Amino acid sequence: MLFTLIEKFGILSGWALSSFFVFARYAAFAGLAFTVFYIFWRKQFQYARIQLRFPKATKIRFEIMHSLVTAGVFAGMGVLIYLLHQAGYTRIYREVAQFGWAYLIISFFVLTIIHDTYFYWMHRLMHHPPFFKVLHRVHHVSNNPTPWAALSFHPLEAIVEIAIIPLIVLTVPIHPLALIAFSTWSLSFNILGHLGFELFPEGFVKHPFWKWFNTSTHHNMHHSRSNCNYGLYYNFWDRMLGTNAPDYEQTFEEVKSRAEIRSAPKPQKTIPI
Ligand SMILES: [Zn+2]
Ligand SMILES: [Zn+2]
Repeated sequence: MLFTLIEKFGILSGWALSSFFVFARYAAFAGLAFTVFYIFWRKQFQYARIQLRFPKATKIRFEIMHSLVTAGVFAGMGVLIYLLHQAGYTRIYREVAQFGWAYLIISFFVLTIIHDTYFYWMHRLMHHPPFFKVLHRVHHVSNNPTPWAALSFHPLEAIVEIAIIPLIVLTVPIHPLALIAFSTWSLSFNILGHLGFELFPEGFVKHPFWKWFNTSTHHNMHHSRSNCNYGLYYNFWDRMLGTNAPDYEQTFEEVKSRAEIRSAPKPQKTIPI
């Protein structure tokens, strides 16, 4: 879509329109999650709250303002990819038949694995003091994040975060549909990670298959502590390298046990004889 916008309106207007669309999509996803969990059904979902307190409005405004800048940076990277594509450097292909549907679907999963690995190492590096101060401190202002924190980055961190896309399109044959599916998955998972409520069922973190996926509790603990749980989608690198919080599973189960208490039948009132 970005390519069409640039071809139709030129680089500057194409960038401005793309920034608007990136922000609008983030606002639609984060806004929906915020409306459901923080406004309309806040009390009903209180049992699934990871940190029981709620952040102040000033912190939420901070998250939204930084996400607005991030949208501009992400759209700028889109323009750069367009220019690289025009110059013949990218491996973006437009005809599905060129590699087939099976390749397109597999390439989506491969993208999530490449991004997960890139994110883990880049994120761990950003937690080293000199990098943290300059790049990553803004994101950690949200020590009790809301869905609006999903794109709340310092502009320099936003560049590092989105740099994975040019790296991919320069090296892997990729169809725009796989890129759209990947960015939608990425945004959805990111909002889930910053939701502040745990929605996955009890036993999820111990299940032989699902334990390899991260949860909202996982990233929430990263925001409240900073020195553990660096992963994005999969609980692979944290598990392999021992950087999961030692009490990650216990914290997850504690949150879920509140749900159990809530759904337990209320004790019958005894009628004095
Ligand atoms: Zn975060
Ligand atoms: Zn971090």
